[in-house]
Amino acid sequence: MTLSINDTFDSGNIEVVDASDPQNIRLRIKQDHQSDFYQWFHFRVAGAKDVPLRLVIENAGASAYPKGWENYKACMSEDRDDWLRVPTTFTNGELVIEHTPTLDSVHYAYFTPYTMERHRDLIADAVSYEGVSLRVLGQTLDGRDMDCLSMGTGDKSIWVIARQHPGESMAEWWMEGFLARMTDSEDPLVIDMLKKATFHIVPNMNPDGSFRGHLRTNACGANLNREWDTPSMARSPEVKLVRDAMDVNKPVLCFDVHGDEDLPYNFIAGAEGNDNYTQKQADDLAAFLTAYKAASSDFQTEVGYPLTAPGKANITVCTNAVASRYDCLAMTLEMPFKDNANAPDAARGWSGDRAAQLGNDTLEAMAAVIDQL
Ligand SMILES: [Zn+2]
Repeated sequence: MTLSINDTFDSGNIEVVDASDPQNIRLRIKQDHQSDFYQWFHFRVAGAKDVPLRLVIENAGASAYPKGWENYKACMSEDRDDWLRVPTTFTNGELVIEHTPTLDSVHYAYFTPYTMERHRDLIADAVSYEGVSLRVLGQTLDGRDMDCLSMGTGDKSIWVIARQHPGESMAEWWMEGFLARMTDSEDPLVIDMLKKATFHIVPNMNPDGSFRGHLRTNACGANLNREWDTPSMARSPEVKLVRDAMDVNKPVLCFDVHGDEDLPYNFIAGAEGNDNYTQKQADDLAAFLTAYKAASSDFQTEVGYPLTAPGKANITVCTNAVASRYDCLAMTLEMPFKDNANAPDAARGWSGDRAAQLGNDTLEAMAAVIDQL
């Protein structure tokens, strides 16, 4: 019996170099189309029940964030629902995953995947709730719809977007939890917030990259979180369409959800490097962070990116561009690929469920600042 390794499906990514020896399966991660970035992998191994596998990703060391492989364990699932961490080492530039499947179908991935099929289920579920509407802002380069959910009747616009970087699948798990909260019509905080604000929610900013199994870019190799200063329909329609919609419903708060390959913590980066950053924006951010920590023990403020010096902001990044353009509170949430080192889970690491819970808890922090925005 020969085993088969395949990535030809929604969000798949792997190249098989040589699978003839189960103890030395040679693999490579494919680059994002028209880009040098790569790190996301997701593939199925079939026909390897009870066969000890040693899967070697040869080009891991030259991936976008090699530090992401240090103290990292790959995700594995046999039922495509529960994803467990499996023994993984990173030596001499190679990522080595060692696992013995108990069934003839097993999937491995960089993080719990969030497929475009699941995205379609997420949207279908969200619009089944009263007061939730779906707008298609336009189409991507591959012709996919850019889905934007809206809810609420308040004058203040809150924008929540996720997964500009498609390999950061935890960002859409976060969205699933956030939307579960926002569609709970018996939650008094939800009821209150929907009176005070109108929410515009883009659960997946990069559907083409998500389907293609990209780490960081869209169908033409554009890093969407470097397109916010001068987005174009030719190169970054995803950003252009969302920014045009923001121009109509100007945000008082913009929350952009990501994952970080290296740091094993949840943290937020602000727009403090902007030329026109204000004390008001700083005060609003401080209040948000305090409330977020109180709402979720998975969120912390001790570890994160170093603060950008005043005037040194990269204005092509969403948070900086949006804070500058609309004089609003804008933030980037980063979640780990590895684990939350403050509350580790040896079996699953940071997971889709944990990300969803963090999304659920985020409303308390938004509620804490809405009246001052
Ligand atoms: Zn990102």
